[in-house]
Amino acid sequence: MFESLSERLGGVFDRLTKQGALTEADVLTALREVRVALLEADVSLPVARDFIKRVQEKATGSAVTKSITPGQMVVKFVHDELVRVLQGDGQADALKIDNPPATILMVGLQGSGKTTTTAKLAKRLKDRAGKRVLMASLDTNRPAAMEQLAILGGQIGVDTLPIVKGESAVQIAKRAKTQASLGGYDVLFLDTAGRLHIDEVLMDEVQSVRDIAQPREVLLVVDGLTGQDAVNVASEFDGKVGISGVVLTRMDGDGRGGAALSMRAVTGKPIRFVGLGEKMDAIETFDAERVAGRILGMGDIVALVEKAQETFEAEQAERMAKRFAKGMFNMNDLRMQLEQMLKMGGMQGLMGMLPGMAKHQAAAAEAGIDDSMLRRQIALIHSMTKRERANPDMLQASRKKRIAAGAGLEVQDLNRLLKQHKQMADMMKKMGKGGMMKNIIRQFT
Ligand code: GDP
Repeated sequence: MFESLSERLGGVFDRLTKQGALTEADVLTALREVRVALLEADVSLPVARDFIKRVQEKATGSAVTKSITPGQMVVKFVHDELVRVLQGDGQADALKIDNPPATILMVGLQGSGKTTTTAKLAKRLKDRAGKRVLMASLDTNRPAAMEQLAILGGQIGVDTLPIVKGESAVQIAKRAKTQASLGGYDVLFLDTAGRLHIDEVLMDEVQSVRDIAQPREVLLVVDGLTGQDAVNVASEFDGKVGISGVVLTRMDGDGRGGAALSMRAVTGKPIRFVGLGEKMDAIETFDAERVAGRILGMGDIVALVEKAQETFEAEQAERMAKRFAKGMFNMNDLRMQLEQMLKMGGMQGLMGMLPGMAKHQAAAAEAGIDDSMLRRQIALIHSMTKRERANPDMLQASRKKRIAAGAGLEVQDLNRLLKQHKQMADMMKKMGKGGMMKNIIRQFT
C-alpha cells in the first residue's frame, strides 16, 4: 500500500531533515516536490493544491523550538495534513448494526471486490462481535455471482439466502428481509448486482432495492487501484443512491494510493474499510492515523515533534506567567493569549466551558465576538513589526493604516485592538504591583 508515494516522500524528507538550517525557499522546494509526488500518486489536483497550501501556511506561521529542526517540523505538518485529508471531520464510525436485523446494502461496479468484501465483513461480524449474519446475492444477471456468495458463505460459516430462480432483485431483497427477521439474524448483507459501468438500469435497480430494504448502511466497494476513477464512481453512486461509506479494495497492491487521499475531500464520504488481499480476513478498518503513518513512515520524527511542541507550549506558558507576575503584557502576550483561545475551541468553546455562560454566549455572538474576530486580531498583531509589538504606543497614523491594510482590515479595527490591549496591560500592571498576579499564579500552578 502506498509504496511509491511513500518512497517519494521519504526521499524529499530525508534531504530536508538532514539539513540543519532551512530557508523558506528550501521548504517551498520540498513542498513543490511533495505536490508532484501527490499528483503522481493520482491524488486529485484540487486536493493536492489545498494540501500544500495548508502545510505552507502552517510552516510559515510557526515557531520552531530549539530541539527540532525546521525539516522535522515540516514532516510533522505534512503528517497532520495527511491525517486531516484522510479522516475529514472525524474518524469513521463503526458499522451501524443495532436494531436487528440491520441491513447493509453492498453496491459497486462488477469486479470491484463486492462479493468478496461482503463475505469478509460478514465473517468479521460473526467472529469478532458474535453476530448472526445472513447474506443474499441480488445479482439476477449472473447466476455465478450468486453461487460464488454461497460458496464463500460455506467457507466462512455464514448462512446465505437459498437461491430461487426467476426472482427479481427486489423480490429477493424482500424475501431476505423476511428470512432475516424470522430466522433471528442480527445482520443482513445484500450483495447487489454490479455492472461494468454505471448505467441507468443498474442505478434504478439499486434505488428500488434500497427503498424496499431500508438499509442502515450503504457501502460502496471500489477498486483502490483505479485511483481517481474510484473517486468518480463514489461521487456518482453517492449522488444517485446515497452511500454511507466506502470500502477500498486491492490496497495490498502497489496502487498509487491517490483514491484513499482524495476520497473524503472530494466525496465527503468516509472510507470505512480497506481490502488487503483475497483471503477472507484480509480486511481492516480504515484508520487515518495509521495510514498516514504508513505513507510517511516517519513515526519517530512525528513523535519527537509532538513532544517538543508540548514542552515548547509548557515553557511558553511559564514564561508568560512570569511576565504577568511582573505586570508585563505586550502585544506578543496578547497574541499568544488569543491563539490559545482559538486552540481551546475559540470563543464559543471557551464560554461553553464556563457554567451559566449560555446567555453570555448569545450576547457575545450578538456583539460579534467570535472566532473570526480572534483571527482578525491575530492577523493585525502579525502585521506589526517586532518593535511595535513590544511597544504599541509608538504607532503613528501612517503605520496604523499600513498594519490594518496588511491584515485586510480597517484602522478602527486596529484601534479597538490597541484599546483592548491597553486595558489588559493596565490591569496587569496594577495586579503586578500589588503582587496579586503572583498570588493568582501561585494558586493555579
Ligand atoms: P465483484 O464482482 O465486485 O463481486 O468482485 P469479486 O468479489 O468477485 O472480486 C473480484 C476479484 O478481486 C476476486 O478474484 C477477489 O479475490 C479479488 N479481490 C477482492 N478484494 C481484494 C483485495 O482487497 N485485494 C486483492 N488482492 N484482491 C481482491
